[in-house]
Amino acid sequence: MSAIDGLPPLREVIAEHGLAAKKSLGQNFLLDLNLTAKIARLAGDVSACDVLEIGPGPGGLTRGLLAEGARKVLAIEKDARCLPALAEIAAQYPGRLEVINGDALEVAPLAHLMPPIRVAANLPYNVGTELLVRWLTPQAWPPFWQSLTLMFQREVAQRIVAEPGSKTYGRLAILSQWRCDVRIVLNLPPEAFSPPPKVSSAVVHLTALPEPRFPADAKVLQEVVARGFNQRRKMLRASLKGLHPDIEDLLRAAGIAPTERAEQVPLEAFCALAREVSAARRG
Ligand code: SAM
Repeated sequence: MSAIDGLPPLREVIAEHGLAAKKSLGQNFLLDLNLTAKIARLAGDVSACDVLEIGPGPGGLTRGLLAEGARKVLAIEKDARCLPALAEIAAQYPGRLEVINGDALEVAPLAHLMPPIRVAANLPYNVGTELLVRWLTPQAWPPFWQSLTLMFQREVAQRIVAEPGSKTYGRLAILSQWRCDVRIVLNLPPEAFSPPPKVSSAVVHLTALPEPRFPADAKVLQEVVARGFNQRRKMLRASLKGLHPDIEDLLRAAGIAPTERAEQVPLEAFCALAREVSAARRG
């Protein structure tokens, strides 16, 4: 029995349900329930919240969130082999854990959740960044969630919190910092997982701001940033040429030298440029 909830230790759960990790699903499990409870605490006060968890696997983080008092956890897991283990957790916390067997990129979770909502996940890298970008880029703000607490490869976490001028500064930094406060709150070595991945990991906590730091249209900002960083070593007058015929004038109007490179341009200036592009397109 484990100390946090009276359920069996995760190693036993994995052995009993035959949950040999599948590489194709990015399965690197956290087996230390003290660590998963710690990550759950990093998600903030979950006691008055519904929590959306993506990729619960055998349920380490799920158990942490429930033990920390989450009002309800909605867990979306692609691997049906995990369902019996998750059903045992649901039985231990009646009415507080709902599991959907599906692909988080396809499932619409909102009908199953009541605000306030927080999101917590330890996900494979490609799914994690795709979901992060979706969560950050709805046309309207504030979003459905108050905070995101997400495990990433350390290199991806660094891209989220990066400052202008650094090698890791790019699309993820701008989209994240435009609408959120962002912090790396925990670093984890490969050995924290079973099986250990090749690289270190980090947990990033993003808190949604009541409104974006600077005004801009979400779609236009995404377009500007995607083009700018697609060819990050090029001058902006070249990399953004396809955005608008008068791009050099728009760059100057936004206070950016046309010879500047995207990695030097701060968030505020990218937002000013997005506003200039929107205005020029309106005519
Ligand atoms: N949360 C568990 C933990 O911390 O031990 C498992 C983490 S493991 C890195 C990633 C989990 O996400 C696996 O259980 C995997 O099956 C699941 N997963 C992978 N792709 C998914 C997707 N598209 N939608 C939902 N779950 C997915």
